[in-house]
Amino acid sequence: MATSDPPMPMSAIDLHMHSTASDGRLAPAAVVERAAARGVELMALTDHDTLGGIAEAQAAARRQGIRCLAGIELSARWARGVVHIVGLDIDPSHPALAMGVTAQQAERRRRAARIGERLERAGMKGIAARATELVGEGVPGRAHFARALVADGVVRDMQSAFDRYLQRGRPGYAAVEWAGIEQVVDWIHAAGGVAVFAHPLRYRLSRGALRAAIQAFVTAGGTSIEVSNGGGGRDDLVAAAALARRFGLSASMGSDFHDPDFRWVEIGRLAPIPGDLTPVWTSMEGVA
Ligand code: AMP
Ligand code: MN
Ligand code: MN
Ligand code: MN
Repeated sequence: MATSDPPMPMSAIDLHMHSTASDGRLAPAAVVERAAARGVELMALTDHDTLGGIAEAQAAARRQGIRCLAGIELSARWARGVVHIVGLDIDPSHPALAMGVTAQQAERRRRAARIGERLERAGMKGIAARATELVGEGVPGRAHFARALVADGVVRDMQSAFDRYLQRGRPGYAAVEWAGIEQVVDWIHAAGGVAVFAHPLRYRLSRGALRAAIQAFVTAGGTSIEVSNGGGGRDDLVAAAALARRFGLSASMGSDFHDPDFRWVEIGRLAPIPGDLTPVWTSMEGVA
């Protein structure tokens, strides 16, 4: 965020956050407790390619008296890269979605093994074991490898871990065959959910390539885009709102919270959605 931006207001709605079920630092129940303590009334847990945290989060939400939508953030193949599609208000037990998630997890497992091999070959002994230790029950993602590289003193912070080791073209990069955008949107719709094109300004795509990716999402039947996001500043919000108008998409808002130590992203710290856009939750049964 630029230093000239005004302080972010608190939002009672936050539809994008992570737990230890994927690469977040807090257990699902702790994420919900933090959300409730910060005044969030409607949230969604949206872990990467897993439904593993939802039951715990929803049980905690019942105790806290807030609403927690079942969600997921699916990685989707786009051209030679990846975009993230958030599914909101899904049925986590739907077999088509569950099978898709199983396939994505298998890809993650394959990739984790390759990242481990590549980093070990580059001299980082024991890094795979360290990443596995850090992840607990799930599959190590790039964030876990980044934390392992920081823990081993190889790099100073996660950003350097990505820049020097984990980004495409770096020694610890391994390609992944994610499902395509159309497939991912189909899984979300099969499970009764709403598909949201996540953090549109965070991909390293040209303006034309970004529009083409969103067009592919719209052609697949996707109906919403994340307009207000925890990481971006005012310019990103204005650009994302323009994309929502251009493609006739409803607007979502979510912090993408991962870690209490990342001070610049916090649950509920979100700019409001511009008044002319349709909020994504207005189409959801029993919400707002
Ligand atoms: P993966 O889905 O395993 O490829 O990992 C992607 C995740 O890594 C993102 O969701 C972020 O949580 C994290 N990530 C990506 N780039 C960075 C970065 N530069 N610094 C810190 N975390 C990052
Ligand atoms: Mn993440
Ligand atoms: Mn993402
Ligand atoms: Mn996310």
